[in-house]
Amino acid sequence: MRVVVAMMSHETNTFSPVPTPLSSFGPGGPAYGQGVIDAYGGTNTCLAAFLDIFSEAGGDIVTPIAGTAMPSAPVQAEAYQTMSDAICEEIDKGCDVLCLELHGAMVAETTDDGEGTLLKRIRTMRPDLPIAVALDLHANITDDIMDNCTVLAGYKTYPHIDTYSTGARAGEILRRSLEGSIKPVMAWGRRPMLAHTLCMNTAVSPMKDLIDRGLEAEARDVLDVSVFGGFPLADIPQPGLSVVVVADGNEAAARATADGILGEAWDKRADFVWDSEPLAKSVAKAKTLTEGPILLIDHADNCASGGTEDTTAVLAEIMRQGLEDVAVFAIRDAEAVETLIAAGVGATVTLPLGGKVDMPTIQRKGEPIEVTGRVRAITDGQFTVTGPMMTGTRAHLGRTVVLDTGKIEIVITESNHEPWDLGCFRSVGIEPTHKRYLMLKSRVHYRAGFEPIAKHIIECDGVGVTSSDYSLFPFEKVERPAYPLDVDMAF
Ligand SMILES: [Zn+2]
Repeated sequence: MRVVVAMMSHETNTFSPVPTPLSSFGPGGPAYGQGVIDAYGGTNTCLAAFLDIFSEAGGDIVTPIAGTAMPSAPVQAEAYQTMSDAICEEIDKGCDVLCLELHGAMVAETTDDGEGTLLKRIRTMRPDLPIAVALDLHANITDDIMDNCTVLAGYKTYPHIDTYSTGARAGEILRRSLEGSIKPVMAWGRRPMLAHTLCMNTAVSPMKDLIDRGLEAEARDVLDVSVFGGFPLADIPQPGLSVVVVADGNEAAARATADGILGEAWDKRADFVWDSEPLAKSVAKAKTLTEGPILLIDHADNCASGGTEDTTAVLAEIMRQGLEDVAVFAIRDAEAVETLIAAGVGATVTLPLGGKVDMPTIQRKGEPIEVTGRVRAITDGQFTVTGPMMTGTRAHLGRTVVLDTGKIEIVITESNHEPWDLGCFRSVGIEPTHKRYLMLKSRVHYRAGFEPIAKHIIECDGVGVTSSDYSLFPFEKVERPAYPLDVDMAF
């Protein structure tokens, strides 16, 4: 049994100015062959679960490619072609089972549906190939995805800490169907809801309610339920919330479960709309709190949703209001890193920080902020993730510098990385539990590593292409009506 296992993962923010070449799909590009196993074997990823399940089943496993990039603009045409070709060429050499870790919200320069286009191509080559697909909770599900795979599962958590078990769910159902003990059938549906990702935390209502409903159905009469919040910052015809149910031959049960959860999601649609307060008010509130760490969440510039990770509005407000004992992760600014490394540890430097990238889709120019500080540390930006999310994988921040203004320690990186693991600070010599304030450019994933140490969490509405204010974004392709762009729409 020849089993092809591959990963091609990208959440595309079509409004992001951050480009997505092949080189962004890993340190220096995707991993190939044995490099895939070296990078992802034994980690908390879907791919690792596929490897384990089909090794145990006696499969002859081949791993043509594994690429995952931080969210950013549509994947460059050549990158999409290269990754798709690597997978298809391996299938062409002979393949009995295919396991794919994809994202579900990939847009390439050549297609609005990166996953659906790939799966359709594979299905055309091999109409009967058993295919298991694992997706992110932020997938925008399409007919082309659903019509061209055998079984599909998505994360049940956000922050995404169940990545291995998601791969295990999809892989195990496929394995059991191959041995003939079950007959998986799928039903799915979607609602035209651009749910705010800030409202998709699976630990609380409304997302928790939908996930719980799925778990109840799994205990009753279906094999597996995935609730996809969708990724709303994608100007494609049908982004939105969707539900996929896999049942053992019982299509009616799958259909009823999907429809029930979708109905509940639609009824709760107003709870999926995030309301922001003015930034100055949020920072002022933080200033009145005494016990730290107090998390200041700069959610409009989350690089793991397509943010540039270099906007300065929240940092500027923190400086304006004079907060002290603050650590910031991170400002991505390769130019500043270069300058600070040249100056060396111990040097005092004044420089324009961040704001190097313009954001034409939201009609904002980058706004650097002038800071003066002492270079505290210089590192290669590498560490192994030990927290619950992506456990065991290697983080690559690029060359990294800590600049200490006296009140604020700012981590400045060459590459983009969302802070979901305490290693973001510890790897550069900052102990996060000892700081009063931690400013994090994140939306929900920070909860994986930082919520357990936080005394307070304050969401700060800054500037960036991951803002929750949809009025900033020029949606053109999204089919209307869509909630909450058309707030009074009926369904
Ligand atoms: Zn996600």
